[in-house]
Amino acid sequence: MSDLKDLYQEVILDHNRHPRNYHGLDDATQRADGYNPLCGDRLTIYLKIENGVIRDASFEGSGCAISKASASLLTETVKGKSVQEAEALFHRFHDMVTSPPDSPTDFSDLGKLSVLEGVREFPVRVKCASLAWHTLRSAVAAKDETVSTE
Ligand code: ZN
Repeated sequence: MSDLKDLYQEVILDHNRHPRNYHGLDDATQRADGYNPLCGDRLTIYLKIENGVIRDASFEGSGCAISKASASLLTETVKGKSVQEAEALFHRFHDMVTSPPDSPTDFSDLGKLSVLEGVREFPVRVKCASLAWHTLRSAVAAKDETVSTE
């Protein structure tokens, strides 16, 4: 198990050091800001949605490694997905990071996103990991307000 944990750690560190889709989006159709006051993480998520499909996704911001890696993984994952699929992923991701640490679970269907499963052992980190997802939802709903994890 510890090898697996090291591997997950590697993926998170890699996405923190080299975040994917880390830029603004000139032709974004929606955007939203997210803020996690517990940690000081700030994110802006940009989406280009056409006919209910997320054609492009990117983010900017500053925050801890977990929040940045999560946003990076999110933008990679939701590209090409329908808004409904992204919503389903949000719920699945949320279930994963809020499930009890000792509960037997299998989140392999989440693919790369499952590298963040370990945060469920650290309640404070759950907000860091889920900030990007709350912000994504806000962007999809095109609410012009900063979402807070509090
Ligand atoms: Zn954080």
